[in-house]
Amino acid sequence: MAAARLGYRTVVYAPEDHSIAADVSAGHVRGAYDDRDALARFAAQVDVITYEFENVPESTVAACARHKPVRPGTAPIHFAQHRLREKEFFRRSGLGTADYQPILSETDIAKATALPGILKTCTEGYDGKGQARVSTRAELAAAWEKLGRRECILEALVDFTCEISAIVARGLDGEARCFPIGLNEHRDGILRTTTVPSGLPVSTLATAERYGLQLAKSLDLVGLVALEMFVTGDGQVLANEMAPRPHNSGHWTLDACATSQFEQLVRAVCGLPLGPVDILAPSRMVNLIGHEADDWARYVADPTARLHLYGKGSARPGRKMGHVTYIELPSR
Ligand code: AMP
Repeated sequence: MAAARLGYRTVVYAPEDHSIAADVSAGHVRGAYDDRDALARFAAQVDVITYEFENVPESTVAACARHKPVRPGTAPIHFAQHRLREKEFFRRSGLGTADYQPILSETDIAKATALPGILKTCTEGYDGKGQARVSTRAELAAAWEKLGRRECILEALVDFTCEISAIVARGLDGEARCFPIGLNEHRDGILRTTTVPSGLPVSTLATAERYGLQLAKSLDLVGLVALEMFVTGDGQVLANEMAPRPHNSGHWTLDACATSQFEQLVRAVCGLPLGPVDILAPSRMVNLIGHEADDWARYVADPTARLHLYGKGSARPGRKMGHVTYIELPSR
């Protein structure tokens, strides 16, 4: 929709029967991620390719890149798809993180010191899935067993005061801009709300922004990256996770920022100058999860609410069906 507003026509490649992005796009190619012929047919119809899901296989992105420029390329998903590689990359880029260690074998468990901690599978975990809190080596051993003895990372439990995110766009010319930092509230591992401005001290915001910009530069990114971070009581900022795509915690930008994160991505990958990131009004984004979206009539009648429904069909528990952005309007 952001691309259409700038006069571009988009073609969506998706493996699903019903791609909701295809509902609002000029074209759609349905194919599996490993269907080289379908990928080539898709690539023949476009000038530039991007992705909005970090679990697209790296080989799919590489296959597309043989036909047309893919922005951002394979590097961001290579790191984002694997928690251990991701944390190592954060450290190499100069970002602070919680203590962590690889858990690949019983020997690693016997040596584990990042306790109490959270054991996370290196791949395929999101929204708190594939994770277990552990306090002792015995609990760690049991949790690793339960996770199928898979490649895991043990992260020390961070006693954070809040969670925040930086969303950074970087253009073809290397210019980068960070959206105002969002204050994020999670429940059961799922993002519930994002508030902007966050009200955090300037020094904390400066560190968070610096981390986001540094990450984009280290990745040599052309596109958008979101970095989720913890803030501790003594003012430390610790990088937790990144996503090289528009992020749920940036949805407020659709209604309350001079440029939305989606438009910024389009600008970056199409080689246009990046747009301004000024806040237009204080806002609070609230996710509509599962059946909460059934209350849509209430939100649509509220003058302070901007309702976004994704058209996903069935409202399974935990599924993000839409969001509402509450905006503080100036008094008349
Ligand atoms: P993640 O899947 O890594 O984004 O984790 C989901 C949520 O679990 C985060 O947003 C935090 O609320 C919590 N969490 C993850 N890692 C840690 C940690 N090392 N210490 C404390 N809480 C964490």
